[in-house]
Amino acid sequence: MPDGWSRLWAPHRMSYLSGENRPLPGNDVVCPFCAVPALSDEDGLIVARGKEAYVVMNLYPYNAGHLLICAYRHVADLTDLSDSERNEIFELTSHSMKVLRMVSGANGFNLGMNQGAVSGAGVAAHIHQHVVPRWAGDANFMPIIGQTKVLPQLLQETRAALANSWDLVD
Ligand SMILES: [Zn+2]
Repeated sequence: MPDGWSRLWAPHRMSYLSGENRPLPGNDVVCPFCAVPALSDEDGLIVARGKEAYVVMNLYPYNAGHLLICAYRHVADLTDLSDSERNEIFELTSHSMKVLRMVSGANGFNLGMNQGAVSGAGVAAHIHQHVVPRWAGDANFMPIIGQTKVLPQLLQETRAALANSWDLVD
């Protein structure tokens, strides 16, 4: 089955990770994680906004409901964060897990931060925590080499479902 996802939404959404849209040393591409908060929640695919960090759908998800917890501040490394930024990123991670469990019945999660371009970080200059929900029998964590897999729900629908449920868990 062809990858209908990128054709459905990529033309009118920012591309985080691939090709010419990827911010790299030496090009002038605007950092997507700095730009997203200026957009509406719907256009930016933002699930929730905290004081120092926010929750956004990953445009290139490893699995349905793959979220990114991004600091508002453009810093690269975990050691660059303030205590309060670090704390809020982990509070938002924990809250995201509760919401994903409620909305999607996720059985487990892969959590993590790639630190530095050599680690595989697509946007290495701006720290972001991955929250990847898992279900029994789903695909491997990273089944994709250079291609987005077909996902069962549109990102916008998932965003709305998660945002609408955000305040329903403690
Ligand atoms: Zn940034």
